[in-house]
Amino acid sequence: MPNPAPHHPPLVAVSAASEDVDGRARVRLNRVYTDALLRAGFLPVAAPPMDPAYAATFLARIDGLVLSGGDDVEPRLYGQTPHPTVDRPDPERDAWEIALVHAARQRALPTLAICRGAQLANVALGGTLVQDIPSERPDTLAHSRAQERGRRVHRAVVDAPSRLAAALGAAELSVNSLHHQAVDRPGEGLRVVARADDGIVEALEWTGDDWWMVGVQWHPEELDTTAEPWDRALLAAFRDAVTASTASASRRAPGA
Ligand code: MN
Repeated sequence: MPNPAPHHPPLVAVSAASEDVDGRARVRLNRVYTDALLRAGFLPVAAPPMDPAYAATFLARIDGLVLSGGDDVEPRLYGQTPHPTVDRPDPERDAWEIALVHAARQRALPTLAICRGAQLANVALGGTLVQDIPSERPDTLAHSRAQERGRRVHRAVVDAPSRLAAALGAAELSVNSLHHQAVDRPGEGLRVVARADDGIVEALEWTGDDWWMVGVQWHPEELDTTAEPWDRALLAAFRDAVTASTASASRRAPGA
């Protein structure tokens, strides 16, 4: 290599799905995730479903974790019978991502969980979900607005002080909304830090200072190029957390 890289962007894993396309299983991740992470100063790497036994080994080589959106988490994992609207389960993906949550927690690896990712992290830590907002929470806003990925369609009010409020630099924001499920009871060590005006949970985070973990129900990767600063600020706060965490990790393990 004639020239060393001018800087070393942190490496962030983004969980990806396996999906059948024309009869073949393909690794699938909306490219907007990796584009938004590149814009935020990361090098992204897609993490397809793997044997959960590899979770800690995999994350040992990674500086941060993004749990991406996707199909519904299997309700039996939180002790419920599936509602008829729930997607066909993907036990392989659920098991892999649950293992990633526990491995990230153990290492205090900064984690940003998005949409299904936030729901999955909640389930991994013992929480439950609203399986179908329209039927289980009638008289709420329309949250399943998949045709408007890049539009801010409802407000979210953020609790302060919180990690999320510090990241956003705001006590409320306007978000997109591409979900028919939501967090119901928060898992062990998690707390709800943002809600829509109808009470639906829009964000949760780890309660302690020992792990930067934020889960948002909206999709910041679809909004970081809008005029409003919130989603750029959230991704920048995630990057700051990753930078601080890699610095302290190299102090703990000199020469590593
Ligand atoms: Mn919503």
